[in-house]
Amino acid sequence: MDTNAFEALDSAVIAAALRAPVRFSLALLDNCASTSTLLLDRAQQGAPSGSVVVCERQTAGRGRRGRSWLSAPGDSLTFSLLWRFPEGTPPPAGLSLAVGVAVARTLEGMGAAGVRLKWPNDILVDGAKLGGILIETLSSGGRHAAVIGIGLNVRLPREIAAAVDAPAGALEAVMPFAPSRNLLLAGLLDGLAAMLDEFARSGFAGLIEEWLARNAHAGQPVRLIAEGAAPVEGRCAGVDADGALLLKTETGLRRIVSGEVSLRQP
Ligand code: ATP
Repeated sequence: MDTNAFEALDSAVIAAALRAPVRFSLALLDNCASTSTLLLDRAQQGAPSGSVVVCERQTAGRGRRGRSWLSAPGDSLTFSLLWRFPEGTPPPAGLSLAVGVAVARTLEGMGAAGVRLKWPNDILVDGAKLGGILIETLSSGGRHAAVIGIGLNVRLPREIAAAVDAPAGALEAVMPFAPSRNLLLAGLLDGLAAMLDEFARSGFAGLIEEWLARNAHAGQPVRLIAEGAAPVEGRCAGVDADGALLLKTETGLRRIVSGEVSLRQP
């Protein structure tokens, strides 16, 4: 395959590459503000579990707490998946970390080396961010659903590298060659569905060892920052079965939930 040629996203190629096509309903768009915003709207109108929105040109991609996710047509993969959890199951604690495990498994399965996970939602290689995960949950009548948004740099255009405030990386640098985005999306969707089946059986607890094995900051000094609060420093001592970060501080072990908190290196 000519890895430098622009490969358009193509629903037929994606559908043909899916192991379990019946589990997904795919909408491929040329332009949109944010795949997650669009899918949240569709979820509220009753879109089924397995609905996917993938977009070539995302103009207002979102990160956590109002931050932006930047992407470039042809070089990035940006998509969102709606997943509805069975009635009577609890809110999906640790889902952001579980999705990280699914993404890492898929990337490694396609030949990527050195994939690491940064609590709670980043995909790193050599300390550089090559992907981000945004989980937004909806609940109604005791049933929970999540819109899982994923952005990945297949290649990294200079303008994106220059615009972000932390080092950014790209898949092409850690794989034998830049992957086909169509095959990558199919692999990620199948990997997410397989992980979500495991998650339905045993929650994040069943995936925790795999997350810890890829923990980018295992045992390292970290600083936790949150708006309006003093930073907390300590050593990263892993995560628990709800996806909370465990921080070894001078005053003992603290449990940090992700909501408003960001992990940084001191
Ligand atoms: P936190 O640790 O709280 O999650 P974060 O900086 O990782 O903080 P996210 O919401 O996960 O925040 O991601 C958004 C941030 O990611 C942006 O503020 C920007 O710095 C960076 N970013 C945006 N687009 C890209 C990209 N394509 N590649 C790498 N980094 C990006």
